[in-house]
Amino acid sequence: MKVLSALIILLLTLLGEGQIRIKLVDGFDYPVGKPNAAGYYKARGLRLTRPVHFGEDWNGKGGGDTDLHDPIYACGDGVVTFAADVRVGWGRVVLIRHAYRDPGTGKVKYVDSQYAHLRTILVKKGDVVKRGQKIGTMGNNRGMYAAHLHFEIRHNINIGMQRENFSKSDANWADPSAFIKKYRRLKKEWRPVVVPTGTYRVYRGHTGL
Ligand SMILES: [Zn+2]
Repeated sequence: MKVLSALIILLLTLLGEGQIRIKLVDGFDYPVGKPNAAGYYKARGLRLTRPVHFGEDWNGKGGGDTDLHDPIYACGDGVVTFAADVRVGWGRVVLIRHAYRDPGTGKVKYVDSQYAHLRTILVKKGDVVKRGQKIGTMGNNRGMYAAHLHFEIRHNINIGMQRENFSKSDANWADPSAFIKKYRRLKKEWRPVVVPTGTYRVYRGHTGL
């Protein structure tokens, strides 16, 4: 029996069972007003020096809470690596991991996109999502802020919910709009790639993929 289960485990490992594979993205869109952020403006941008802001804040042009419940979209194909209500300053947060081929080097790279202060989450950890798929709605973190989307793109896929452990550098964080513009359309490829998992530290009892 022991030998049999060992053999099964070996076979599953060889077949790559249990590994998560996703398609390389064919481009990135904005997470609001799809695909071009129509009807929204960037209230705050990325700033890696004090006062630090690790991403972008997207607001509806109507101001205040007029954008509450507005749809939030996955900026690219990928897999949900985190989806939880962690409360504190974050509220409901979704993280999605994307794989893309850098046209400059020809190498496959991974990035995580993060969507915070959501009113509702419509996906769960492990879900494979498509670019433009509705993943949640815009929120205000229980009235802590005027409704807006806090949106980050990280080159470093170990950050997860533990930003304070990582240096404030552009090796770790991308400027989201600049990144989207740069990789707006990429060549379509069908060969799936294995996604690294287990890269986040547990945050307030919540684990990543
Ligand atoms: Zn923000």
